[in-house]
Parts: sequence; structure tokens; C-alpha cells
Amino acid sequence: MRKKLIAANWKMHKTPREAAAFVHDFIPLISRHDRDEIAILPPFISLSPTIDALRGTGIAVGAQNMHWQKEGAFTGEISAAMLIAIGCQQVIIGHSERRQYFGETDIEVNRKLRSALQGKLKAIVCIGESFQERESGLTERVLSRQVAATLGQICCADVENFCLAYEPLWAIGTGKAATPEMAAETHSFIRQEAARTLGDPAAARLRILYGGSVKPESATALISKEEIDGALVGSASLDPESFARIVKW
Ligand code: PEP
Repeated sequence: MRKKLIAANWKMHKTPREAAAFVHDFIPLISRHDRDEIAILPPFISLSPTIDALRGTGIAVGAQNMHWQKEGAFTGEISAAMLIAIGCQQVIIGHSERRQYFGETDIEVNRKLRSALQGKLKAIVCIGESFQERESGLTERVLSRQVAATLGQICCADVENFCLAYEPLWAIGTGKAATPEMAAETHSFIRQEAARTLGDPAAARLRILYGGSVKPESATALISKEEIDGALVGSASLDPESFARIVKW
């Protein structure tokens, strides 16, 4: 049985004060909801206040990016070791916004994943096709390339320490989520591709989250699918009530 993970990607939202206020309002709304894992991924400057506010709740906190080197002359970057040092447990790698606006490549995504796992940081690695790629019938080719690149030199013993998040670009921030059937079908394909590198037993344990316009209204139909192991939630995670409704799908 794969435990579901519901993760909040706050992107470039919430100051330390706003993050603490969110936690204050959110925790009472989800008391006794311990069925799934929950993670919150604030911007770097709000990591420590969120970690402090969530201490003892079992909710993990993570960053939205990292560098693959431990330290060095990389202005503006931060490493897995640094994130671990402040109590982070998770990191998002290869979000489509990082690929699109900051030129992140499949090779860098793989370096980051290997570095996160070496540093004992759990990772959520994002993959997904663009609207044009889906329209041109290239979805499987794109996902196959991304899965193979992501999993290069990854040991199957690490499969519990990272998830893939299928986030079709056309669904992110557009209000148009994939249908549960479409997402489940694509997740099966991704698992099949992961098995080529990890082998069937490890691929069966790999969690594949869905992300892209998950809202309180669409969460249950998506997350209850056997092939969908949770959700990576952007805009609907910014409001405590909305995110709590998704957690309670
Ligand atoms: C995301 O960017 O990871 C995401 C899923 O965003 P949204 O839920 O806003 O589409």
C-alpha cells in the first residue's frame, strides 16, 4: 500500500508572518486527519518559521528548489545539507516553472535528485508535458524521456525517499485539471516507464502524485484513484480552509 501525500507548493507566496498565520488557522481544521502524509513547501525565507509553527504536528516542511553541490561559489543557491540543517524534510525538484523560467534541464533535475537522496532529503520530482506536446501526440515520448532522465543512477532502495509528481503544464494555474481518468491512465504509463529503470517491485512502491489545478471540488475524484498517490497543490493551498478541504478529500 502506498501512503498518499498531499503537498502544498506555495511558490513565491507568504512572508514568515503570513506562513505562521496560515499554520495557526490550518492546524485546527485538520485535527484527527492523519490518514495521509501532509507537506508544506514555503519559499526559503519562510521555511524556519513554518518548521517552528508545525513542530509536533507530523506535517513535513520542504523547500521548492536546491542546488546539487554541498557548498561553493553558487550565488543565490542553497544545498540539501543546508535545508536539512534547519529541519527541512522535503524538496521539490524540477518544477515546470523552474524548467520554463530558469532553464532547468533533465540533467540538472537528476543531479539534484541524487544530491537530495545522498543528503537524506525526500524529493518530489515534477514531470509533465506542455499543451502543444499533448496536442501533437507527444505526451508519452516526453514523459518517457523525463522519467528515464530523472531516474538515471537512482538506486531502487531509495524509491520510498522520493515521489514523481505528474504536472501537465496545461493544467498548472489554469483551473483546468486533468480528468481523474486521464491522470490515472498517465500515471500507469509513468509507472511502467519507471519500471524500466527501477524494476517492477520498486516501481510498484513509487508514489506518483498529480498536480495541476487541484481544488477542493476536484480533490476527491482525483486522489481516490488507486493510481494517484496524492496531490501537489499550488494556488488552492494558499488558503487554510481550501487546503484543509483538500487534505480531508
Ligand atoms: C503547481 O504549480 O505545482 C500547481 C499544482 O499549481 P496549481 O495547483 O495552482 O495549478
